[in-house]
Amino acid sequence: ALTAGIVGLPNVGKSTLFNAITKAGAEAANYPFCTIDPNVGIVEVPDERLQKLTELVTPKKTVPTAFEFTDIAGIVEGASKGEGLGNKFLSHIRETDAICQVVRCFADDNITHVSGKVDPLSDIEVINLELILADMESVDKRLQRVTKMAKQKDKEAMIEEPVLLKLKDAFEAGESARSVELTPEETAVVKGMHLLTIKPMLYVANVSEDEIADAANNEYVQAVRDFAEKDNAEVIVVCAKIEEEMAELDDDEKQMFLDELGIEESGLDQLIRAAYQLLGLATYFTAGVQEVRAWTFRKGMKAPQCAGVIHTDFERGFIRAETVAYDDLMAAGSMAAAKEAGKVRLEGKEYLVKDGDVMLFRFNV
Ligand code: GDP
Repeated sequence: ALTAGIVGLPNVGKSTLFNAITKAGAEAANYPFCTIDPNVGIVEVPDERLQKLTELVTPKKTVPTAFEFTDIAGIVEGASKGEGLGNKFLSHIRETDAICQVVRCFADDNITHVSGKVDPLSDIEVINLELILADMESVDKRLQRVTKMAKQKDKEAMIEEPVLLKLKDAFEAGESARSVELTPEETAVVKGMHLLTIKPMLYVANVSEDEIADAANNEYVQAVRDFAEKDNAEVIVVCAKIEEEMAELDDDEKQMFLDELGIEESGLDQLIRAAYQLLGLATYFTAGVQEVRAWTFRKGMKAPQCAGVIHTDFERGFIRAETVAYDDLMAAGSMAAAKEAGKVRLEGKEYLVKDGDVMLFRFNV
């Protein structure tokens, strides 16, 4: 399963946020594909369409789709030098598909800051530098070989060398591979290198309880936003402490709490949604009388692969998929009406599934 790794310096609120994630957590039994590991938190992906479909179909059961966060503790300065914990930390990051970096934007005199004061940009720099140094090493190693081969007029090496030099320049300037503009051809070259700083990054600005409602005016948050823009990354504002408290409430209580605080959507829900987007994930639905359910697929997946998300047999024996767009189904008011209106399509093996498709798979066993 795809996963987003949570990183950050000590005392920035990582554990608090991860607690919120596991407390709000989904019933693991519903999600046999998810990893069972104390460092992995499974969350349900909030999606109001699922609620609407449930009202339309009135099934016995409704199951949201789920998503994994991995808690990657233990960043230390010098991680890239490959000492003990540091090495492990980097290899854990390598296994994730996106990075959520928690940044402390709350002032609280009772909580020590590792570097003595709240300074989100310097915190980001410390972490990013370790990742950049690790990537620098990968690029340097590769350059040694590629330069030799390019001299011998090796075609691929001649394409690769300038890309590597471009990355090296960025790293030397303290910039991530993510921030480097690459052509599709260059991107293809870089892809095989499994760089850390090319992974999608989401900065999670952790603000205090008092400031969450007015986060737009928080100077720390603004600084993070400015930085993220240059870094080709996104920013989500949360108050980890509030999320932890909210994770124990039911939906109605949660709504009351949010209203009281003057915020529209919980930071955790925003984080889940943003990470989902960042990973290039989308949702299709199945809507039967037994069960209405959301399923996750990667954008670009075709109908048989999407059927395979439910069960490998569905993919192997795939015949076709009866498909209706969520909006068309809601506009028609029922599946029968959607059929009558000609909105239910029979899609075959080459169909590229779209976010919001409601599907019924036909397959041979
Ligand atoms: P970690 O080391 O990054 O995992 O940080 P923790 O989650 O353990 O948080 C460090 C301390 O900061 C704890 O005492 C938390 O209660 C506190 N903390 C975390 N988030 C917030 C927050 O949003 N507001 C305030 N005031 N304190 C927080």
